[in-house]
Amino acid sequence: MALKVCKFGGTSMADGHTMIKVKNIVESDPDRRYVVVSAPGKRFSGDTKVTDLLYKCHAELTEHGDCKLAFADVRRRFEGIVKELNLDFDMASVLDDTERRMEEERSEDFTASRGEYLAAVVMARLLGAKFIDAEDVVFFDENGAFDDKKSYAAIATAAEGAERVVVPGFYGSRAGGGVKTFSRGGSDISGAIVARAAGATVYENWTDVSGFLACDPRIVDSPRRIKTLSYKELRELSYMGANVLHSESIFPVRRANIPIVIKNTFRPEDEGTSILPIAQYKPGGSIVTGIAGKKNFTVIFIEKSHMNSEVGFIRKVLSVLERFGVSVEHIPSGIDTMSVVLDSSALDNFKLEQILECIKAEVEPDFMRVSENIALIATVGHGMSSSVGTSARLFKALAEEGVNVKMIDQGSSELNIIVGVKDEDMEKCIAAIYREFFGNN
Ligand code: ASP
Repeated sequence: MALKVCKFGGTSMADGHTMIKVKNIVESDPDRRYVVVSAPGKRFSGDTKVTDLLYKCHAELTEHGDCKLAFADVRRRFEGIVKELNLDFDMASVLDDTERRMEEERSEDFTASRGEYLAAVVMARLLGAKFIDAEDVVFFDENGAFDDKKSYAAIATAAEGAERVVVPGFYGSRAGGGVKTFSRGGSDISGAIVARAAGATVYENWTDVSGFLACDPRIVDSPRRIKTLSYKELRELSYMGANVLHSESIFPVRRANIPIVIKNTFRPEDEGTSILPIAQYKPGGSIVTGIAGKKNFTVIFIEKSHMNSEVGFIRKVLSVLERFGVSVEHIPSGIDTMSVVLDSSALDNFKLEQILECIKAEVEPDFMRVSENIALIATVGHGMSSSVGTSARLFKALAEEGVNVKMIDQGSSELNIIVGVKDEDMEKCIAAIYREFFGNN
């Protein structure tokens, strides 16, 4: 029998009206037995997400010892929702308890997590389902890492015998007690964790878009929707900024080969995008699956004659970066040259100067150059490895745009080609690559 875990994002939970849509979706399919929710998101552009209101509560708490002012907005949102839904329960006292506990705990993570908590309390009422608090079933270990075994077992036990359950996303319990959240957008991870624990046949991730697009619609007008993606392609594209789904949310489901389907709460009949394990994935005919880009990288280019025969050269360069706690994004290399690509946000000027000094001392390069404000563009697709001439087409498209390519890196899986260009060229490069592989539609 099929078992579906459905995670509903912030816009699906924005108000009573959208929560009714969620209810209809869940109830239209008896297999949808596990529901994971985010905090209410924006109702209109310019609105504030409940999670952002809660971060304001924390700031007020730290400054004044209470958060009466900021919490009043949260209160209004939830009281409005319960009224709209005509639910007969004492939301005011749930909100009072929440405010009291926020004042006692004074923890940013605890306060931020209350949007999911309250949303799940309401959704459980609306569905007549069992509420399972993530604090009781999602655990982190002493190092702050997600404790998979303990959590999977606890979720399975808590859900036993229940027809339908609702679990708040975004948080769990830290090893020494107290609430800890995932990074922003982390309810996607919670959904994947619950899917894994429940042994789901599918993890449905309900958003406000009908799936992944082949590139950013702000760059190309109505780009094609991607029908199927492999986990690996998803990982590449979401790491590079295609942010429909949190980039870490595939790890729990990947091991168990559970497919993810991105669906649209506001157009539930749309097919969406299926993200499949490689074993189930059949390329859909196009060479390229998607194109994504990210700005603000720094490239350190290093040249030294006979670099290739100097044992330990790359290790020495990398050990400098390790000492400074900077992680390396890519390392394209030649016979006498190598580059390291770093995320500029991890560097301030001072650190960069020091890193360069240390590299000089460590490997005595003949020449070294730094390029800043570099954008990386990833062209991703399993189809690329088996078709001749893909990179020629890609570089021809960029040359015709008059773009100077600063760096090239082809992943060893041949799943992607990454090019580095100036930040200001990123949009036109993505548009040119899209036109080359998808035509003008
Ligand atoms: N509510 C949290 C956030 O705004 C988590 C989530 O929506 O997934 O980041």
